[in-house]
Amino acid sequence: MWQEARVALTRSENMSRIRSADTEPELIVRRALTAAGLRYRLHQKTPGGKADLVMPSQKFALFIDGCFWHGCPEHYVHPRSNWPFWDAKLRENVDRDRRQTKALVSEGWKFLRVWEHEVREAPLKVVERIQKQLDGARRAKAGWRVVFVRPEGEGSTLERRLHEDLADAAKQLTTVRQRVTAKKGRVAKGVVSHLSVPAAKKSGGGISNDAKQRGRVA
Ligand SMILES: [Zn+2]
Repeated sequence: MWQEARVALTRSENMSRIRSADTEPELIVRRALTAAGLRYRLHQKTPGGKADLVMPSQKFALFIDGCFWHGCPEHYVHPRSNWPFWDAKLRENVDRDRRQTKALVSEGWKFLRVWEHEVREAPLKVVERIQKQLDGARRAKAGWRVVFVRPEGEGSTLERRLHEDLADAAKQLTTVRQRVTAKKGRVAKGVVSHLSVPAAKKSGGGISNDAKQRGRVA
């Protein structure tokens, strides 16, 4: 079932380079913040690592998570080659995001993690959410991350996707849906034929209910 790692790493190397540059979603947010009269610094160190945008005096950090690199439930597409490499990459990124999030919480920082697609779809809403956090609103929920993907059998267009809650790795969710082929940034319409949430999460599951209502993972 698992394919051999046969694709040269040039593709991933190229993608790594893209990651380190100022991305288009970052530029969109920066323009919107400047227009709103908010001042910020870029790529500064915060507890747990660097953030994309920081307001040091207010102890606020913003992360703009790329839909591919950070396992967006709507848009993550596992490359259909070199499975072990991409599995490890995704796991590493989600684990890092989780460590960083925990470090910020324990150091009493305010922060917001937004998806690249949210920035592209509604940058002003992102600015509103930043403003709310600065004004002392309750911390936004961390949300789901795709952490593992496999086809539902040889040649199937269905994929089984394992999600984890960024705030709590023990909260997991499995979906089976059509492989997403929509272009980056577009909202994909996956067909879910199976959904399982661990029983313990159903009662108190603010996050999973949220996710269902938004139709993003369910
Ligand atoms: Zn996305």
